[in-house]
Amino acid sequence: MVRLDGMAEAPLLDGMGRPLRDLRISVTDRCNFRCRYCMPKEHFGPGFKFLPKAEILSFEEVERIARIFVALGVRKLRLTGGEPLLRNGLAELVRQLAELGSADLALTTNGSLLAAHAEALRRAGLGRIT
Ligand code: SF4
Repeated sequence: MVRLDGMAEAPLLDGMGRPLRDLRISVTDRCNFRCRYCMPKEHFGPGFKFLPKAEILSFEEVERIARIFVALGVRKLRLTGGEPLLRNGLAELVRQLAELGSADLALTTNGSLLAAHAEALRRAGLGRIT
């Protein structure tokens, strides 16, 4: 149970009574690759309608959700997409999440844009990249 102020009353458990420790957060549905098994170009072509901006969680909404889950016992936050580095200002979101003090802050990326962002992400508090 979560109170409206985001404080936990009891930890989150799965159906087997085990604590839920990991939370994956998708920050975009877009990707600059078209891997066959994930986003085949026949389906995700130029006319494909990705989610409009209004339906994407803002950084403030992501931070609020993450804060609630951390209060419930989550100890690993992983940012994903699509390709998360396509989301403008991702290092700022990483900084906000790092301030929550969760044990592990990670990013899943295809790596194509990593060279341009790695230093800022590390400085913001990112701990791991897959
Ligand atoms: S999200 Fe990953 S698997 Fe999917 S198209 Fe992009 S790079 Fe490929």
